[in-house]
Amino acid sequence: MDSKTLYAKAQTLMPGGVNSPLRACRYVNSEPVFIDRAEGAYLWDVEGRKYIDYVLSWGPMLLGHCDPSVAEAVYMAVNKGTSYGAPCYGEVALAEEIQKLIPSMEMMRMVSSGTEATMSALRLARGYTGRDKVVKFIGNYHGHNDAFLAAAGSAAAAVPGTPGVPEDIVRHTLLAHYNDLDKVREYFETRGGEIACVIVEPAAGNMGLVLPRDGFLQGLRDLCTEYGALLIFDEVITGFRLSPGGAQQRYGITPDLTTLGKIIGGGFPVGCYGGKREIMEHMAPCGGVFQAGTLSGNPVAMAAGLATLKGLQQCDYDALEARTRGLAEGLTEILRSKGQSVHLNQIASAFTIYFSDVPVTNMTESSACDADKYAAFWQQMMAQGIYLAPAGFECAFTSFVHTDEDFEKTLEAASKVQF
Ligand SMILES: *Cc1c(COP(=O)(O)O)cnc(C)c1O
Repeated sequence: MDSKTLYAKAQTLMPGGVNSPLRACRYVNSEPVFIDRAEGAYLWDVEGRKYIDYVLSWGPMLLGHCDPSVAEAVYMAVNKGTSYGAPCYGEVALAEEIQKLIPSMEMMRMVSSGTEATMSALRLARGYTGRDKVVKFIGNYHGHNDAFLAAAGSAAAAVPGTPGVPEDIVRHTLLAHYNDLDKVREYFETRGGEIACVIVEPAAGNMGLVLPRDGFLQGLRDLCTEYGALLIFDEVITGFRLSPGGAQQRYGITPDLTTLGKIIGGGFPVGCYGGKREIMEHMAPCGGVFQAGTLSGNPVAMAAGLATLKGLQQCDYDALEARTRGLAEGLTEILRSKGQSVHLNQIASAFTIYFSDVPVTNMTESSACDADKYAAFWQQMMAQGIYLAPAGFECAFTSFVHTDEDFEKTLEAASKVQF
């Protein structure tokens, strides 16, 4: 069946024909293609068209699709049963590997999505501190928990009131602009005793890529310490991508709690939250804060995650960063040569090129970008087999298996785009 037929059928069965809103491609005035298979840096749609993939399942596939060692680990695990609902070796092995890479995660718990990880970390922060308020940054996305759907980024940005989220819950969410340390300081000075935690994407990836200003993360760290609140780094995107030890290693700032997702599951549904032992021991069954999961620590998902983290440690992060910069700067130059006003944000293997007159440092600047220009760019790149995120406020990701030839093809495609 072709994409058009599948999409028509899907729309009768699922809201918007999709299981996650952005996939519907509405921000780029298009319809989705249905994917049949993926391997390495490539996707093939149901009509057999091949794409160079810069979405990578929204981040997880840093080793590329169908990495042989991950696939092998998954096959081996499947042969031993797909779920036990009881402790298994894989949970211990993956937790040990995570702790080695991210030492601030002295203890952790596996869950099945990033949403679950941030939801649980917030509950723990509240349970541990006995406080209710959370400071959250406008344009940061922490999954679809009620408390975080106030001014969230990604697809949720289009739903400002977010029907279904009680006012009573979001009134505990204090909003500040990303990179606006003064606002956070003001919150602490006026109601420091009520704030359980500050949650932040240490490099923000859901309003496009927005990097923390010098001193921003350190400032958050200092304020949290001073007022006895917990600092939560939501590293669902940055974990294992900004460096093997995530953003906290790269920026040299240690949070109290960390949330992980995406890459950690190697393409399977895995999330994880963890941090200081003394805090984590407040979770049941050690402490009173409750959280549980039927499929948590699933043996197949653990095997995929472990093989992914082991594989990543064989990879040259610096080389990929330099090559990604080359690609991103090349694309930026091409767009400028076509008279477009664009600004590039890049770190490690992630970047966003904004159709904007000004550099982008927060959500206000991100939302002001020219969505129609991005849609035109996206459509023409797709038509040439370059698969980019179907919204201008998302990151492009590269993987360790993208080749120089892939990058050259991408630049060549961009040079043919007309505005
Ligand atoms: C994707 C994402 C989440 C949510 O993860 P899901 O697995 O989609 O629930 C949370 N935080 C950040 C920073 C993310 O990018």
